[in-house]
Amino acid sequence: MVAEHEGTRLAVDVGMKIHDHNEYPQGIANLKVDAAIVTHAHLDHVGALPYFYKPHAGKPGMGHIATFCTPPTIPFSLLLLEDAEKVAIKRRKPGLATKKDLSRLSRNFFALPYEKRYDFAGNLSFEFYDAGHIAGAAQVLIEHDRKKLLYSGDLKLLPTRMHEGAVVPRGQVDALVVECCYAMRDQPDRRLLERNFCENVRSTLEAGEPVLVPSFAVGRTQEVLQILDAGHINAETYVDGMGAKTSAILRDFPTYVRNYTALSNAVRKAHFIDDPQQRKKLLKKPCVIVATAGMLDGGPALGYLTRMNNMNKGKVLLTGYQVEGTNGRTLIEHRRINVEGQGEVKVRIPFAWYSFSAHASRSELFSYVDKLSPEKIFAIHGDEQSCTSFVRDLKARGYDAVAPRVGDRFDV
Ligand SMILES: [Zn+2]
Ligand SMILES: [Zn+2]
Repeated sequence: MVAEHEGTRLAVDVGMKIHDHNEYPQGIANLKVDAAIVTHAHLDHVGALPYFYKPHAGKPGMGHIATFCTPPTIPFSLLLLEDAEKVAIKRRKPGLATKKDLSRLSRNFFALPYEKRYDFAGNLSFEFYDAGHIAGAAQVLIEHDRKKLLYSGDLKLLPTRMHEGAVVPRGQVDALVVECCYAMRDQPDRRLLERNFCENVRSTLEAGEPVLVPSFAVGRTQEVLQILDAGHINAETYVDGMGAKTSAILRDFPTYVRNYTALSNAVRKAHFIDDPQQRKKLLKKPCVIVATAGMLDGGPALGYLTRMNNMNKGKVLLTGYQVEGTNGRTLIEHRRINVEGQGEVKVRIPFAWYSFSAHASRSELFSYVDKLSPEKIFAIHGDEQSCTSFVRDLKARGYDAVAPRVGDRFDV
């Protein structure tokens, strides 16, 4: 989104469709902004930001604009962008986020804590509020001439083991731009979900089999470790892939998680895989392997799954949303995955899917909207069906709501 006031232009989140071959979004080459704001370090919010720092971005000053975010978002973003470039190189499309782009970006990152107002260019101010989604995730409240626009970013209102839940800014807002990933349904009770997950882990281990838990690196890996610890799963637990680096980054931001002691206790009990040779030994005994990628699109998780499938041994427990077109999704829908060099592979071993979502469910979204009582609502960040049905439900409640399309402009 680009917010504009009296000629000052702010880009809010500059993301990319991660499963669309990691390409820059259309139209980015024509964007000219004075600064960027990034709500959190997920590639669908930060993935295209390096474009602003390429020499060929070409417009005066664009290679040096400030990007504002919370402190944890900086190291997490740089780590994810570096990894995205590795994926791009594998797909023979390098140049997404080169070392030079990232070094220019890192020199222009500007960290702001939650609930500290920042005056920008004299006529605009903005302030971050905890979004409860991942460490450092923020809602952005932009103000000018006493008008308030709130951009939710990705949002979770109910507490999880990692976060207390979003802090909703006080008072009414004029315009609300809100994510609506889960506008169509409510999430299962988290405690019950955790219990069922741990029971499944325990019974698999008791049968002498390994458990593979594909998990996103930022947040979910550490949440799974805490769930296993709280559920008294005493088997050896291994972390493989980017989860090791994200766990190390979190050590620098203890105030950005809900219970740092519980987190560090759980992380300390896990073994981190730093040598690929160690992987071969793991599947010989009952153990839990928490590995990236969370949607099984590459990374060590896909390697473990392939080997477990060949050995007809173990169980896979998915822990997050599985985007259409990913291996996680085709596993759930068709029991198939795509492995480079092998093509389509049928998965014979058992699997289960647990919806440990970091997004607000339907009832959370409505309570959020009701607290803010906005004059105008823009529903974004859901598939077409969830955006349009959310807008319809909001209108039925008396709100003025719209699901904007790419390129739409609105005055608020
Ligand atoms: Zn996110
Ligand atoms: Zn997102």
